[in-house]
Amino acid sequence: MEPRIFLSPPHMGGNEATYVSQAFESNWIAPLGPFVDRFERELSEYLGGLGVCALSSGTAALHLALLALGIGPGDRVYCSDFTFSASCNVIKYCGAEPVFIDSDFDSWQMDPALLAEQLETDEALGKLPKAVIVVDLYGIAANHDAIEKICDRYGIPIVEDSAEALGSRRNGRLCGTFGTVSAFSFNGNKIITTSGGGALVSRDPKIVERAHFLATQAREKRPYYHHTTIGYNYRLSNLLAAVGCGQLEVLDDRVEKRRAIFARYVEYLADIEGISFMPEPDGAASNKWLTVVQIDPKVIRQSPEDIRLALESENIESRWVWKPMHMQPVFEGLDFVGGNVCRTIFERGLCLPSGSALTKAQQMRICDAIRKAVRI
Ligand SMILES: *Cc1c(COP(=O)(O)O)cnc(C)c1O
Repeated sequence: MEPRIFLSPPHMGGNEATYVSQAFESNWIAPLGPFVDRFERELSEYLGGLGVCALSSGTAALHLALLALGIGPGDRVYCSDFTFSASCNVIKYCGAEPVFIDSDFDSWQMDPALLAEQLETDEALGKLPKAVIVVDLYGIAANHDAIEKICDRYGIPIVEDSAEALGSRRNGRLCGTFGTVSAFSFNGNKIITTSGGGALVSRDPKIVERAHFLATQAREKRPYYHHTTIGYNYRLSNLLAAVGCGQLEVLDDRVEKRRAIFARYVEYLADIEGISFMPEPDGAASNKWLTVVQIDPKVIRQSPEDIRLALESENIESRWVWKPMHMQPVFEGLDFVGGNVCRTIFERGLCLPSGSALTKAQQMRICDAIRKAVRI
């Protein structure tokens, strides 16, 4: 059996281990320390000076984003329907109620027209949401210009879930800089990783300060432990921040590599009718976190699951696209705005191995296996 090809494994740059040793030598093992400060500073520089709070996960960043915006029980929060459950679980953590908005086929991201319609409806009913969570899924920037304009009309803040979109841009502007507050993930499968980690970023220093405060158990600045609010233990450890500093050095290279992988898939699979690729809308420059294909059932008899199993039998990991939130049993009965866009992408989509260390030979192997699977 050939060695396994994983979907999106970690890809170290080289300096990570050195930085981790430095953290050991200085005994800054935990809880915070100089590498956390450095990681926050360097990520901030990369993002053009936004405030950064390094955290233990992307989910923690999204949770604190909502808390910092004052979301609480009974509030409504809109969220992209096509996403990973972490994007909207945090709405439930706050005791608030999610409303899911469908995508458009041009970008696979939240459809601004549906957002505008729903806001109009909810305004008339006097139940406007307190925030809108907009996801940049698979590294593709959402239509932020349109969404920002619509939300501004009602003064509703935007939480940008850029967990998958570090290094992606829209009209030259980096993802994660569009939200009133934004979240990144450094989970093991993301474009860069700290093994586990995340960051909250915002232009508003008050939001970033609030996130730091809530993430460190809401400890007031007093010599004794004094609390006026419920806190969380959400900070990133100094050891993991050391890994993050090494990874930031290679971020641009990782984006380039994943874009090259995407381009090669397009080239190698061009001869197969019925396979198409995820969009890159006008003005968007995606980090191509994962390459996602669509299998047209009118042309190809095999389903995405058939192809996934065929790849699996050759020791290649591929994966279904995210199952839309309105189709999840756990969110049954919640409001959903839209039609069949997310559902259709879910039924036809397949995520291909996209790790930045993937070799051309491995990609050939994957494409040969796909070709074999869709014959007949
Ligand atoms: C990975 C991911 C998250 C959660 O990040 P963690 O660091 O795993 O908590 C949130 N939203 C999306 C879209 C993600 O892909």
